[in-house]
Amino acid sequence: MPNPEAYRSLPAVDRLLAAPALADARAGYPHALLTELARDVLAAARHDIAAGRPGPDVAQLAAALLARLGEITAAPLTPLINATGVIIHTNLGRAPLSVAAIEAMQAASGAYSSLEYDLGKGERGSRTDYLSAILRQLTGAEAAAVVNNNAAAVLLTLSALSKGKEVLVSRGQAVEIGGGFRIPDVMRQSGAKLVDVGTTNRTRIADYANAITPRTALLLNVHASNFRLIGFTEQTSLREMAQLAHDRGLLLVDDLGSGSLLPSEDYGLAHEALVQESVSAGADVVSFSGDKLLGGPQAGIIVGKAGPLERIRKHPLMRALRVDKTTLAGLQATLLHYLRGEAVEQIPVWQMISTPLLKLEQRAAAICATLTSAGIAATIHPGQSAIGGGSLPGETLPTCLVAITPVSLSVDKLAARLRLGHTPVIARIAADALLLDPRTILPGQDEAVIATLLAAWRGIGHE
Ligand SMILES: *Cc1c(COP(=O)(O)O)cnc(C)c1O
Repeated sequence: MPNPEAYRSLPAVDRLLAAPALADARAGYPHALLTELARDVLAAARHDIAAGRPGPDVAQLAAALLARLGEITAAPLTPLINATGVIIHTNLGRAPLSVAAIEAMQAASGAYSSLEYDLGKGERGSRTDYLSAILRQLTGAEAAAVVNNNAAAVLLTLSALSKGKEVLVSRGQAVEIGGGFRIPDVMRQSGAKLVDVGTTNRTRIADYANAITPRTALLLNVHASNFRLIGFTEQTSLREMAQLAHDRGLLLVDDLGSGSLLPSEDYGLAHEALVQESVSAGADVVSFSGDKLLGGPQAGIIVGKAGPLERIRKHPLMRALRVDKTTLAGLQATLLHYLRGEAVEQIPVWQMISTPLLKLEQRAAAICATLTSAGIAATIHPGQSAIGGGSLPGETLPTCLVAITPVSLSVDKLAARLRLGHTPVIARIAADALLLDPRTILPGQDEAVIATLLAAWRGIGHE
């Protein structure tokens, strides 16, 4: 039974808004917004009372109001520290950008720019002309285009070059990249018809040749991004595929996924396909991501022969998938690092890949020593960092991990506290230890990692 006394004890809106707990809210938000929230909270309280539950007091109502305000104003992107050791972590935003890229993006966002304006002629210009020149120089391609991401690049390429036609794909390459990006689905969306070629583990050039019909538009090669084909396998070389395609008047499209402009083998990794290699092997169109091994902002980069690139650039989808000025500015700054031969020093993804083990051991030891002196049971262990982001599947780099084995609370609980810290830290969990990999903790973040850990360990602000 609802208690009439409980209704009467609910405060009026103005009395609720005067609650001491709402001082910051009153200073930061308009009265009208807070009044609306107060009415919602009071309505919910009356609903509770009607259901026979006790009526909340003013402090509880104020807390409820702040919770609602928090839901509305919650920062959608919380900066955090990636201590997982996965360098290109899609859930954590992939590539952190170079200082020059950040500055370029900032400069492009606060002022008007020559985005589509030719300063020499004083008339409308092309949004991506200046990027085309640098991409041609770096990759050896004849032309280039930039869209929102590589998934968009593949969709656009297939839509422009093979709509209503057949596309030959090896059975071993009709894959799912992650996040629901499946080659057969993208193909359907583009209006092209997928023709499976060969078998899952072996596809020969003759398999492609035999599958060509008058309706075939192109051969599509898809980089195996997140899995490895091992054992009794055979893949066709890009050069052979290009030869066949061109002999039969068809096109070869290469979805490189990550791709790379630098030789990954120089850093103790397997060879990741270079964009330049794909172009020189004869692929007519090559697409790759801006924020995987390239180390720039999210983008899909398309390079290749002038003819097909012209069809891609003129396709109506190009307008729907075009990138923002800040992306173009960040991408250009990132590409300039490659042109100047300073990519390894300036681009965070490559800085992390090339960090010597000794340096990681020193940082891990220093973090460990600080934690130990604060009474936290920490040790250091050899371990492995991963590249991630659908690049170099299964490839790892040797690293040095800080391992923390909590006794009075579970590892999961400690990891959760780290995630909810003032500067959240995302760690790895293995068996009963929490692992921190200094490779992906950015330079200058070691102190913040320690601070978050100490606070989490003591449970400050969490209980
Ligand atoms: C990652 C990847 C994609 C998707 O690229 P996004 O930039 O994430 O859209 C497509 N194809 C391959 C082979 C990939 O590895």
